[in-house]
Amino acid sequence: MTYRNILEKIRLAFPQPVSDTIHDSYFIHSIMRALDRVDDLKTHLPMLGDFVEGDFEQARRATLPDSMASVEEVTADLVSYLRGMTIFGHPRTQQNVIPPPTIPSLIGVLLASLYNPNMAWDEYSRLVALAEVEAVAMTAQLIGYDPEQASGVFTFGGTATTLYGVKLGLEKACPGTIQTGAPEDAVVLVSDAGHYCAANIAGWLGIGTNNLITIPTTDENEIDLTQLEREVRGALENGKKIAAIIATLGTTDAFGLDDLERIVALRDRLVEEFGLDYQPHIHADAVIGWAWSVFNDYDFENNPLGFRPRTIRALAGACRRIRHLSLADSVGIDFHKTGFAPYISSLVLVKDQADLELVIRHPEQMPYLYQFGEHRPGMYTLETSRAGTGPLAALANFRLFGEEGLRVILGHIVEMTQLLREHLEGHEGTTVLNRENFGTVTLFRAYPIGIDTFSIKRHEFEDAAYHDSLLKHNDYNREISEYVHSEAMEGRGVVISITDCYRRTQYGEPIVALKSFILSPFVDETDVEMVVSKVLEARGKVSGIC
Ligand SMILES: *Cc1c(COP(=O)(O)O)cnc(C)c1O
Repeated sequence: MTYRNILEKIRLAFPQPVSDTIHDSYFIHSIMRALDRVDDLKTHLPMLGDFVEGDFEQARRATLPDSMASVEEVTADLVSYLRGMTIFGHPRTQQNVIPPPTIPSLIGVLLASLYNPNMAWDEYSRLVALAEVEAVAMTAQLIGYDPEQASGVFTFGGTATTLYGVKLGLEKACPGTIQTGAPEDAVVLVSDAGHYCAANIAGWLGIGTNNLITIPTTDENEIDLTQLEREVRGALENGKKIAAIIATLGTTDAFGLDDLERIVALRDRLVEEFGLDYQPHIHADAVIGWAWSVFNDYDFENNPLGFRPRTIRALAGACRRIRHLSLADSVGIDFHKTGFAPYISSLVLVKDQADLELVIRHPEQMPYLYQFGEHRPGMYTLETSRAGTGPLAALANFRLFGEEGLRVILGHIVEMTQLLREHLEGHEGTTVLNRENFGTVTLFRAYPIGIDTFSIKRHEFEDAAYHDSLLKHNDYNREISEYVHSEAMEGRGVVISITDCYRRTQYGEPIVALKSFILSPFVDETDVEMVVSKVLEARGKVSGIC
């Protein structure tokens, strides 16, 4: 075959550049065939097909095929990789902070992938650049920033949102580090319940993980303000520069919410007292918590959407912290967490767009770009090429849900979480650990028959005499988790997860907890009851004498 024959086949494997409705049908048909094949994998179980153990040894020996395959063959091959995938939208999936994406957000991703706008520059993204600006404006307004003054960009994950925040802060505290490299005296502060990405960022930015100061948290999984003040003072007295204070609004495991209002007040007070010539940057890692902003002006008194009283209390409890998000200098937002968009859809917002100039490059450094056009985020983004998928997915969901829709979907999963807690608290064998955290994640422990769950939780947390009991019950909960998991894989029960260290006891040991993260709008009361009954069933099955 001459290359021309093969080229014909290659051309058919691309969407056609000029209108060709017959080929369009072929394209759509190919997508439908893929969806049909995925549908064949669906059963009543919370996963696609059977669980298949991946052979990573063999995978490492994979080689490039010699010749072409058909679109159909490739499709079938790709779908086979979905076997065993958890269906995150399934009502019996409560595993982690992974949402099911909506249809419009998927179409947003498809369109952005199909025409491949590059968000570095409006010359390569045209009105998709506008979509990003609109999504930024809507989010800024939602959290209470002045949209005239604020700005932001979509970036490569929640981790990158914090990276941007800390980098801007580093430039404020130690001007010129873009040229000179990070100095040795810069520190970053974050709570011990904050995300580990803070350590990553300190490492990758050259600040160094030794300069990451971890502040203990209160029983409510919030940063301890007294300790924070002591550490910030100590750092300043020792001549250190505060590159950033990261406030976590919605910790990953427990949905702890740092008291941003008081952190900002503390910062302002110390700037004054120490006569600092810069304002230590406060970045709010709200990648999970941002979505609660839709309740900032909800009428909790009249409750027009008719949530249950416990739900109202939980929503108001979260809002009392989330409503202060606009006090932060920058905020991280993941639409791929509580915004029901596919990965990656993360947005970093800055309160003052002038901050982005701290990391701007000069056009002469980028001779092949930016000859014209007026919108050039690529002048300051860390990325060069940047996909339009995140902005279109986020915008799609804002349009789809509106404020009311977001209130309903979030309110529902909070309501289901509260029901779960009610059921867990209604049994003597189980106890909720993060009662005072009002998100959609519930950490709980089961105890063997005969243990007083009312007092054991506090004893194991506070009293070193309970050290052995704590470790024994850590193992007990691991056993419970294994039983519940294997049952779920057989189609009996619910997929939940386990965390090896929800937090440490006062004497320093990790507390293992069972974890339910509700993010599917399909979850209903029977599904949360199922969690409780499976755990109780497991209590009867596992030894309990470990
Ligand atoms: C998930 C998470 C991150 C990391 O976000 P990615 O989008 O996974 O990079 C950071 N902070 C918190 C609190 C998170 O829950």
